[in-house]
Amino acid sequence: MKIAVLKEGAGETRCAAIPETVKKFIALGAELSVERGAGDGASIPDADFEAAGAKLGSRADALKGAGIILSVSGADAATLKGAEKGALLVGALDPLRRRDAVEAYAAAGLEALAMEWMPRITRAQSMDVLSSQSNLAGYKAVVDAAAVYGRAYPMMMTAAGTVSPAKVFVMGVGVAGLQAIATARRLGAQVSATDVRSATKEQIQSLGAKPIFVENVAGIEGEGAGGYAAEMSPEYQKAQAELVSSHIAKQDIVITTALIPGRPAPRLISKAQIATMRPGSVIVDLAAEAGGNVEGTVSGQTVEQNGVKIIGAANLARSLAADASALFSRNLYNFLSAFWDKEKGGPVFPDDDEIVKGVRLTQGGKVVNERLTAA
Ligand code: NAD
Repeated sequence: MKIAVLKEGAGETRCAAIPETVKKFIALGAELSVERGAGDGASIPDADFEAAGAKLGSRADALKGAGIILSVSGADAATLKGAEKGALLVGALDPLRRRDAVEAYAAAGLEALAMEWMPRITRAQSMDVLSSQSNLAGYKAVVDAAAVYGRAYPMMMTAAGTVSPAKVFVMGVGVAGLQAIATARRLGAQVSATDVRSATKEQIQSLGAKPIFVENVAGIEGEGAGGYAAEMSPEYQKAQAELVSSHIAKQDIVITTALIPGRPAPRLISKAQIATMRPGSVIVDLAAEAGGNVEGTVSGQTVEQNGVKIIGAANLARSLAADASALFSRNLYNFLSAFWDKEKGGPVFPDDDEIVKGVRLTQGGKVVNERLTAA
């Protein structure tokens, strides 16, 4: 089985393989072919891939006869010629926003597998690219806020007087939110956090932060279906807005991460609430690409309202390319190796497997994923 590792397009710094996963795939019996320069954005020199046992070459060399193509953000089908018929294309393919690209994968006879549609089940935890990348984004959001905040995070008692600790409020306590809480705590901030899922209350407390929860209207008991939140009732939204209004005016840094699968991100902070914050405060909106949790967010940009900086964070994992590539690559290896059939010398995907049903987008020239065919 030949596995091709592609150099990503402009703007994508990550790489879908690292020397460690190259070695592991070779140990499974595969042959690895890496497009020259594939690791540049993640500071992995071609020589390191070569030392791990991969062949280096042009894109055409890498693709020629490949049965598996590894990519971070999914190249267009037109640039994938030369691979075997029925070759697997594995990556974060963004199927809802790249519907035409998915159709083109089907037409090209590729079997496209979208890693971000990995089901949230225990067996798939080590294959979950959303978790591995969100964790890094949660960390980076806090660090990026620190870089533009004109004050310090920790309390400092100095001969020239005391610096008071920053107050950080995290809204949405999934994978990114938990890492944001932990990072802000490590930097010495006073941290509070909120979510709609009751299960997060204990997690917030266990990280040494203060839970701020709507008490008078029921939220989501426990984890919520598949670990995900749902859209909340108008009563809940009203109660949440009141709670946020009274809390946010006292906060210096706010990190928002709230997402609802298949829906625009819930609006959690209004312009009127931002106007109550102290000038110099910073909001990082990690949901910016999904429409934003904050009124006025612009994805990929920093805007200012009443002296409050609002960072519309887009794909922060890309700014930690080396770590993000390592975790992403291991997710891909964990996925493919779990289905590896030694005799066939490659992965075999049973049609009725929950993971396969979740991630498989195209097969036999057709789009087959229910989430796409039902839409
Ligand atoms: P996510 O990115 O979908 O959403 C981020 C957070 O925003 C969630 O905690 C959600 O409850 C919250 N949120 C949604 N609407 C909100 C609102 N109106 N106000 C406040 N908060 C709101 O979530 P995620 O980070 O992917 O993780 C969610 C859960 O799934 C976690 O408990 C996580 O541990 C679990 N998970 C399990 C697996 C697995 O078992 N394989 C993998 C990933 C995540």
